[in-house]
Amino acid sequence: MRVAVIGAGLAGLAAAWELTQTDGYEVTVVESERRAGGVIVTEHLQGFVVEGGPDGFLAGEPELPALARELGIGDQVVNQCARGTSLWTGKELAPVEEGRAAAVLGIEAKSADVAAGFRSFAAGMSQPVAALCQRLAGALRMGQRVAGLTRAGDGWRIAIAGGPTHEADGVVLALPAYGTAPLLESVGVAGARALAEVVYVPSITVSLAYRAEQVEAPLTGAGFVVDQNNTAPLHLRACTYASSKFPGRAPAGRVLLRAFLAPGDGDPATAAHAHLAAILHLRGEPLWSRVFHWPRGLPRYQASHVDVLGEVRHGLAELPSIAIAGAGYDGAGVSACVRSGRAAARVIARSTAR
Ligand SMILES: Cc1cc2nc3c(=O)[nH]c(=O)nc-3n(C[C@H](O)[C@H](O)[C@H](O)COP(=O)(O)OP(=O)(O)OC[C@H]3O[C@@H](n4cnc5c(N)ncnc54)[C@H](O)[C@@H]3O)c2cc1C
Repeated sequence: MRVAVIGAGLAGLAAAWELTQTDGYEVTVVESERRAGGVIVTEHLQGFVVEGGPDGFLAGEPELPALARELGIGDQVVNQCARGTSLWTGKELAPVEEGRAAAVLGIEAKSADVAAGFRSFAAGMSQPVAALCQRLAGALRMGQRVAGLTRAGDGWRIAIAGGPTHEADGVVLALPAYGTAPLLESVGVAGARALAEVVYVPSITVSLAYRAEQVEAPLTGAGFVVDQNNTAPLHLRACTYASSKFPGRAPAGRVLLRAFLAPGDGDPATAAHAHLAAILHLRGEPLWSRVFHWPRGLPRYQASHVDVLGEVRHGLAELPSIAIAGAGYDGAGVSACVRSGRAAARVIARSTAR
């Protein structure tokens, strides 16, 4: 059975991996970019490990460690070193309860779960992505943007912009919800249009490197969040002390900070340094900085989300082997994405067993 997984973010790769672990599936992963991983981006710069998107997952979540073990990189999971988050009140860094710190950033998690800390990978969050790509190498079709989906007999035809079509018996759509919505609408899935209403909140992350002696304030804990009354462009929402939070993020004697900024015009690196210099008493300029723009970052669901999803899944069950996966549906974190990718693969397996 030929299954096309559309989207090589973590959800799509997890779906493809799950399918390849079952006999009888020939999997193709179709991805519009030249790079897999979606919003997971790790860069290795001058001995630093720089995260553009996610930097970790909750320590209590089993999905990534389990996947890592299957991929032979179970020993690469690392624990958070520095713990605790502060709140920048505008005047001082005050201690704040971890659950509240997460809530300020729009992350929905129970206080107890956040208090248990985070985990990551020794080489950064792209390490499991790289391992998945290695195992799925023959299945990956990079640089192919899916532009259309149509029924073809008992299966599917997938149109690629400016390219060939793929025929498949089953399809996993592992795209952001705004990408999935028009494809499902075109094949008549009731409620699909409402999926496009999942809001992907824009943000900018800026990583900045300093010599340790440039940082005069003590870096206590893993970072701080900022009271959210300020809506100014490029204002600071949070800062992670990346080199304190996880091991191996910076060479000895260097500090790596990561600022989260609200979107806006101007130079994010200059703005981030200016904000952090005032709060952390930084002397001089950063050694370097790296900006990642997320015009559509973390998804946030509307109150009607569960109902919309129920209607869409009901519609999908009426069609030949098709499933949806990814951050737009059952949780935005990386662990939820692995879970949803694997669940989508099982939906395909069940539907073909019927
Ligand atoms: C800045 C930031 C920080 C985050 N921090 C954390 C964190 O610390 N911990 C945590 O748990 N979560 C975090 N998250 C959330 C988490 O990283 C994401 O929700 C998750 O990685 C999304 O995975 P995905 O596979 O669903 O989607 P994506 O990563 O968006 O992947 C979708 C893929 O589909 C491809 N695609 C899109 N359209 C098409 C098309 N038409 N044809 C073919 N391919 C297409 C895209 O190129 C992409 O590769 C963060 C997110 C952001 C943006």
